[in-house]
Amino acid sequence: MDPKSVLNFANDEGVKFVDLRFTDLPGSWQHISFPISQLTEESFTEGFGFDASSIRGWANISESDMLLIPDPSRFWIDPFFEEPTLCLFADVVEPLTHQGYIYDPRSVAERAEAYLRSTGLADVAYFGPEAEFFVFDHVSFLNEPHHAFFRFESGEGNWTSDNPDENLGFRIRTKEGYVPVPPFDSLQDLRSEIALNLEAVGISPECHHHEVASGGQCEIDFRFASMLTTADNLMLFKYIVRNTALQYGKSVTFMPKPLYGDNGSGMHCHQSLWKDGQPLFGGDQYADLSEMALYYIGGLLKHAPAVVAFAAPTTNSYKRLVPGYEAPVNLAYSARNRSAAIRIPVLSKNPKTKRLEFRPPDPSCNPYLALSAMLMAGLDGILNKIHPGEPLEKDIYDMDEAEKLHIPRLPASLEEALAALEADHEFLLAGGVFTRELITRHIEYKRKREVEALRLRPHPIEFQLYFDV
Ligand code: GLU
Ligand code: MG
Ligand code: MG
Repeated sequence: MDPKSVLNFANDEGVKFVDLRFTDLPGSWQHISFPISQLTEESFTEGFGFDASSIRGWANISESDMLLIPDPSRFWIDPFFEEPTLCLFADVVEPLTHQGYIYDPRSVAERAEAYLRSTGLADVAYFGPEAEFFVFDHVSFLNEPHHAFFRFESGEGNWTSDNPDENLGFRIRTKEGYVPVPPFDSLQDLRSEIALNLEAVGISPECHHHEVASGGQCEIDFRFASMLTTADNLMLFKYIVRNTALQYGKSVTFMPKPLYGDNGSGMHCHQSLWKDGQPLFGGDQYADLSEMALYYIGGLLKHAPAVVAFAAPTTNSYKRLVPGYEAPVNLAYSARNRSAAIRIPVLSKNPKTKRLEFRPPDPSCNPYLALSAMLMAGLDGILNKIHPGEPLEKDIYDMDEAEKLHIPRLPASLEEALAALEADHEFLLAGGVFTRELITRHIEYKRKREVEALRLRPHPIEFQLYFDV
């Protein structure tokens, strides 16, 4: 779409404000609104000034002025605002040079797509994410060791409700949430409304259901798209999910492991490369993959410890990546095995459906950085012909320790992942896609603000373990 069409649309819809959306370094969505009269054709090149110094992970006070340049290729009316408001994704650029701001995650994803095309290997990378999440009725600060600092209550069965009328006992057991009918699943209407709201903003939902965990865990899948569009979709998806839930008086979290002892929330990413409208991952190798797909897998597995510093980037991520909860622990690939980091779905023989599913990511990530890092790892695999070795057909959870020793593992903590990224990031710098500055800033931010924040605090479980020592 060109700027003129955006303006015509705004006029036809009686829009009163334009709201620009951008993403901070850790991955939270930000927005600034302007009266619609301020949006002109020039705005799409000259942008809107704003103060970037208070955005997490961004500028120092000395370099705080930045421009937001709206991207005319996509726009929608916000479904939640009272006044008709036009929304657009915006890129953050330096005012003097008009270069993409080096800490703007969206510009990383734009450069990653340009780099992909420049290699000549493919012209588009498709990503299909499955971002799981939890819906809770009450979230309160309670120092309860079982759930660390928070206590969550799901509406389902709600044995603990103070209101006896609500305590009817229709409760989903731990790890048995996939996929019972109501009254055990009490979130059908909410998920359907989320799906309709997604459609209204241009995202196509494909399926929705309750997920495995007991406490109101849900999944709503939406149609795959090119990488940047998928990262944009994920930002919009989380916004729609949260705000629709709020209208139902519910709270949503995308943190990967809110409940100890139950499944966590992953964001598996299905991926494939295409050129001239033809799929490149179908072929005559293992699980009907092409050689190119195997090399892509080789790159993803080789760089996975560094990639997860972006794709599973919270201390909580590593509480999900443990054995026994359908989350991967070991770095292997397989057509059958959901315990492997990479699964090759074999539902159809059609090469157009051929893709791989990378399972370590979770929805606490910044999708622009996480998807770009995955793509860069896969491309490095293809360019350097990194063969992934033999697939792993056995369930890793059932192997004995001696057997498992031979399979490389994902990092066990955010600290380990950040160290892996520090040691292995040349593949991200190819084509100027990631900058050293952004990688360093990410590592510093995560170490100081998150790893240290947790490490330095006495944890509730320590009271249970050590109070009587
Ligand atoms: N919730 C699981 C995870 O943490 C995935 C379940 C599934 O296979 O959809 O990755
Ligand atoms: Mg799932
Ligand atoms: Mg999956």
